[in-house]
Amino acid sequence: MSLTTEVAIVGGGIIGCALAYTLAKSGARVALFEKERVGGQARIAAAGILGSGVEGNRDDHALNLAARSAKLYPDFAAELEAATGLDATYTRSGALSVVFGDKQADFLSAQANALAERGQRVAWLDAKALRRAEPLLSTAARGAVHFQDDAHVYAPQLMHVLTLAAVARGVKIHEYTPVHGFLTAGARVTGVQTAAGPVSAEHVVIAAGAWSRLLGDLLDIDLPLRPTRGQVMVLETYDRPLQRVAFGAGGYLAPKQDGRIVVGATEEDAGFECENTAGGVAYLVKILQKLAPDLADARVHHFGVGLRPTPADGLPLLGPVADRPGLWVAAGHHRNGILLTPITARLMGNALCNGDLAPLQPYAPERFAEQ
Ligand SMILES: Cc1cc2nc3c(=O)[nH]c(=O)nc-3n(C[C@H](O)[C@H](O)[C@H](O)COP(=O)(O)OP(=O)(O)OC[C@H]3O[C@@H](n4cnc5c(N)ncnc54)[C@H](O)[C@@H]3O)c2cc1C
Repeated sequence: MSLTTEVAIVGGGIIGCALAYTLAKSGARVALFEKERVGGQARIAAAGILGSGVEGNRDDHALNLAARSAKLYPDFAAELEAATGLDATYTRSGALSVVFGDKQADFLSAQANALAERGQRVAWLDAKALRRAEPLLSTAARGAVHFQDDAHVYAPQLMHVLTLAAVARGVKIHEYTPVHGFLTAGARVTGVQTAAGPVSAEHVVIAAGAWSRLLGDLLDIDLPLRPTRGQVMVLETYDRPLQRVAFGAGGYLAPKQDGRIVVGATEEDAGFECENTAGGVAYLVKILQKLAPDLADARVHHFGVGLRPTPADGLPLLGPVADRPGLWVAAGHHRNGILLTPITARLMGNALCNGDLAPLQPYAPERFAEQ
C-alpha cells in the first residue's frame, strides 16, 4: 500500500472515529489506522456514563469541556441515528450519588440544595425518596444527590453506529494496521509508516488513547499519558430494575436500555496489562453488595477490561504539536472519553479545517514542556 490522504488518524477508538467522521463531513479525505478492531475502550469496557454533573468535582477547564460536551450529546446522537437508521442509545436517565453515612448525607444534602438554588437541576433525595425512586438500591443508603440531566449510552452500540456513519461519509478505515513510524521532511510530519506500507498525509493525528505516548516517543515528543486499567462486570437483568446511574461505595451501577447493568470500575496502575483479575472481580462484587445487594442473583453477562488514557494533569491533550508541523494529538480523556467525544470532535475538527486554535489552548499538548 502506498497511499496519499489529507488526514491520517492513528487509533480507531471513539475519539479517532468521531474526529474522522467530523472531518469527512466537512469534506476532508480521511484514512484511519487501527492496530486491532475499531472501537477501543468504548467497545470493550466503557460504562457509557455521560456524567458531567455527578463527576463534576474537577477543575474549570475539565468541567467546561464536560458541560459543553453533555449539551452537544443529544444532537450528536440524533445525527448518527439519521445517518445510519440505528439507535445510538442516548438516554437521559439522571445519575445518583448515593451516600451511606449520616454526616456525609448532611453535607451533601446542603450542597445539593445550594446547587439547586443556583439554578442547577440537582436535587437531594432523602432515604425515603430514594427508596421510592430506586427500590433496588440498598436500604442502608441515607440518601442521594440526583443529577437530573446526566445521561448514558451503551458505548459498544454508539461505537458501532459511529463507525458506520464514518464509513458512510467516506472515511477509509484500515483495521489490523498498526502505525509503527512517521514520515518526515525536516521537522514536518508528512505521513505514517503502517504495517501495510507508507501513507502520505497533510495532517497526522495521534488518537491512540493510552498508547499515544509510545507514538510520541518515536518522534522524541513527550506525551505524558499512562494507562489506568479499569475492570467492569456486566450483569443481565430482564425487568430493568434500575432507572438511573448510581454512584457510591467506590464505584457505580450503570443501567442500559436492554436491561444490562454495568458494575464498575477498578482504577489500577498495571501498565499495558489488560486482563480481568480475581482482585478486580472481588472489588466489583463488593461495590454490588454495598449498592444493590438484591442483584446478587443476577446473571453475569461478561467481564470487561480496558485501559483509560490518563494524562499527567487531568486534562486531555488536544491540538497541534509545537515545532512539528503536520502533527496533532487528540488523546488523554481518562475516565470521561465517551462523554467528551462530541466536544473533542468539534474543537479538533474546527482547528484542523479552519485553523481555529484558540479554544484548544488550555489543552495544548506542549503545556507540559512549559512547566
Ligand atoms: C472500565 C472503563 C470504564 C469507562 N467508563 C466510562 C464512562 O462511563 N464514561 C466515559 O465517558 N468514559 C468512560 N471510560 C473512558 C473511555 O472509555 C475512554 O476515555 C475512551 O474510550 C478513550 O478513547 P480513545 O479513542 O482516546 O482511546 P482508545 O479507546 O484506547 O482508542 C485508541 C485506539 O488506538 C489504537 N492504537 C494504539 N496504538 C496504535 C498504533 N500504533 N497504530 C494503530 N492503532 C493504535 C488502540 O488499539 C485503540 O483501539 C471508561 C474506561 C474504562 C477502561
